[in-house]
Amino acid sequence: MAILRDLQARLSGRVRSSVSLRKHTTWRVGGPAEILVEPTGIEDLRLVLQYARERGIPLTVVGNGSNLLISDQGLNGIVVKLGSEMSRIEIGEGFIEVEAGAKLANILAAAREAGCGGLEFMAGIPASVGGAVAMNAGANGSSIGDRVLEATVVDLDGKIHLRSHDELGFGYRTCALQDTPAIVVSVKFGCFPKSAAAIRAEVEQYLARRKQTQPLEYPSAGSVFRNPPGGAAGRLIELAGAKGMRIGDAEVSRKHANFIVNLGAAKSRDIRQLMLQVQKLVNEHTGIWLEPEVKLLGKHEAIE
Ligand SMILES: Cc1cc2nc3c(=O)[nH]c(=O)nc-3n(C[C@H](O)[C@H](O)[C@H](O)COP(=O)(O)OP(=O)(O)OC[C@H]3O[C@@H](n4cnc5c(N)ncnc54)[C@H](O)[C@@H]3O)c2cc1C
Repeated sequence: MAILRDLQARLSGRVRSSVSLRKHTTWRVGGPAEILVEPTGIEDLRLVLQYARERGIPLTVVGNGSNLLISDQGLNGIVVKLGSEMSRIEIGEGFIEVEAGAKLANILAAAREAGCGGLEFMAGIPASVGGAVAMNAGANGSSIGDRVLEATVVDLDGKIHLRSHDELGFGYRTCALQDTPAIVVSVKFGCFPKSAAAIRAEVEQYLARRKQTQPLEYPSAGSVFRNPPGGAAGRLIELAGAKGMRIGDAEVSRKHANFIVNLGAAKSRDIRQLMLQVQKLVNEHTGIWLEPEVKLLGKHEAIE
């Protein structure tokens, strides 16, 4: 395949064709990526963006795949995954600078060792930094955007920009990058002195609470729907009686109604269909149409 050969010749990172994306999502569903690229740095990234743009090839960026519903047909074109190849973590006076592929858990561990506090709230969010910034992931009353000082991004033309906190336009589970697509390459977080013991204790408390309230024993993508203004999606789903609803191996969690779990062999289509049933049921009960928080990628067949 020409794209495969071309990219393998140009990039230092891994380039593969027909790679199942199941293993690249926490829901463990989804078909293959036509081409999967794992860049090793900003130059690789720029080269692949330039290559795709010049030839009009569709390009999708993914992080740890913890907020994605990828269709069973998979994704055409190039999928760029920012993961362990771009996960450098550097700690300075009052800040932590990390590459976009670093996992939040690893950043928290490095912050704890260095006595850098302020990031504990993210404990248990299974995200890469890039995905967490793009989604403005949050928990325990804080969001990742609250701690971001600045981020380096590459636009689809391959140009590099340094974006300040304000330019990133953080909002509830969103940021400006969702409207003006650009890829996060690295992020600088502010932090403050805090003892490793205090950080550890807080993190353990958050993790224990998650274990108690979330179905972590099954593959999922966390909360499926955004909270509507003034309410909690999980509560509405529970009141509508949707807990335990099941299609194939996709089930509305009995532990946390805003989670849909994969009991083993769920297909993307099962999850999509179940999402729609939940939306309809909640709408019948409350008049509210829940909007997905998860990102649907690829062609999802029309389902009624
Ligand atoms: C068990 C569990 C618990 C969770 N708990 C929480 C929680 O408490 N709070 C919360 O907010 N979320 C939670 N989530 C959801 C998920 O972890 C977040 O949405 C997270 O921000 C997704 O990061 P990711 O790296 O997995 O991104 P992905 O799922 O891979 O991608 C998400 C979006 O970000 C974009 N993206 C990814 N990387 C980049 C990049 N480098 N540059 C630009 N765009 C990029 C993708 O194109 C996509 O649109 C949970 C998920 C699970 C499975």
